[in-house]
Amino acid sequence: MLTRTPAANSLVELDRRHLVHPVSSFRGHEARGVRLLTSAEGATVTDSEGRQLIDGFAGLWCVNAGYGQESIVEAAAAQMRQLPYATGYFDLGTEAPIRLAAALAERAPGDLDHVYFTLGGSDAVDSTIRFIRYYWHARGMPGRDQFISVASGYHGSSSMGAGLTALPLFHDGFGAPHHSQHKIASHDLYRNPNGSDPASVIASSVAELRAKVAEIGENRVAAFYVEPIQGSGGVLVPPPGWIAAMRAVCAEFGILFVADEVITGFGRTGPLFACEDEGIVPDLMTVAKGLTSGYAPMGAVLMSDHVYQTIADFAGAKAVGHGFTYSAHPVSAAVALEVLSLYEGGLLENGRAMGARLQAGLQGLSDHPLVGDVRGRGMLAAVELVTDKDAKIPLPAELGAATRLFDRAWDNGLIVRAFPQGVFGYAPPLCCTEGEIDQIVERTRKVLDLTL
Ligand code: PLP
Repeated sequence: MLTRTPAANSLVELDRRHLVHPVSSFRGHEARGVRLLTSAEGATVTDSEGRQLIDGFAGLWCVNAGYGQESIVEAAAAQMRQLPYATGYFDLGTEAPIRLAAALAERAPGDLDHVYFTLGGSDAVDSTIRFIRYYWHARGMPGRDQFISVASGYHGSSSMGAGLTALPLFHDGFGAPHHSQHKIASHDLYRNPNGSDPASVIASSVAELRAKVAEIGENRVAAFYVEPIQGSGGVLVPPPGWIAAMRAVCAEFGILFVADEVITGFGRTGPLFACEDEGIVPDLMTVAKGLTSGYAPMGAVLMSDHVYQTIADFAGAKAVGHGFTYSAHPVSAAVALEVLSLYEGGLLENGRAMGARLQAGLQGLSDHPLVGDVRGRGMLAAVELVTDKDAKIPLPAELGAATRLFDRAWDNGLIVRAFPQGVFGYAPPLCCTEGEIDQIVERTRKVLDLTL
């Protein structure tokens, strides 16, 4: 029997009294108590009871490089010793963020050549909203102030970005999203009311986007936001060609196209950026998570040359009034540079091989009586559980409760994301070995058997 030390027990009590946890039921958490994680190495995490778990979710889809990467620790320590902080305000700067911006611009698709650093994904999305408003003012069209995103999408939980997020949980109790924010239906291939034929899903999304633009007014729409694969909505993969088709509609109406690659960036789906899978170049791109692999907080907005030059020309000698004290933090930038060299030194390649193994392994669960759908790309996947495969009936609430499924997986040595109503999400570190990928699949089968 695994037990906690008295020191760990006192931490659990302090947590209960004082730490407010993100995206959690405050009361539920008080009742359940925190699960204390104490250390990690590679793809394995250890808890305060000494339990070893395979982290099939890379923290929160972010620790792409895996845990215990000494060279990242060294890069952070060296930067802290030399210069722990430098602002980017007042024309100041320092080496690491400059090198990182150049490295990202060189690798990003097309002319996404200008990089604005943030602290994470939510403020990256929020920054795009601000820059896009500025851009349309600069173009003499301030009335282009309406934004469209996709149902089931997640774009963070900042005050404005949460309005682009189309998951009810992020609106319940907070009031309606801003009136400038609109949604079209998801491309979900499994539960699409228009059927699962890829061509008709693309055609209906195109028609819906056109209709939405017409409804709002052609000259009112500022931007359209997509995740190349919807993550928090349950890992929903659009049919091939969907993103390019939506991008083409935006180009036709002069609407800015924003790719939110906060989850899909940095090898999660195979290439460095998932946009490469579709061969499209967005006007703006947001990244975070894998940028620093979770070793330090950082996000970024990548702007196309056209967007940047328009803003720069309009501002002229005046400052563009948007920034954070910790924009372009040198320690985070030093971490990101080292993480990038690990990706390119073999991690991306390993991730591609392990991604193929993960997808094949999870597909092998399709014959399980509870598995309705297996989907994903690369090291990003989901398994959706149902009680009736033909009718696609979700697990009853008591069986499919996220906490219940999460606990079951945990008790069997596996950390996965459990989405409401019985969907398991996977985003393992790219450093996983074949044996670890196989364990993720085997442990999932065990959890499914126990759920029957
Ligand atoms: N955008 C997407 C697509 C995300 O998945 C997330 C977080 O999961 C965010 C934005 C927000 O990022 P953060 O949690 O770093 O603020």
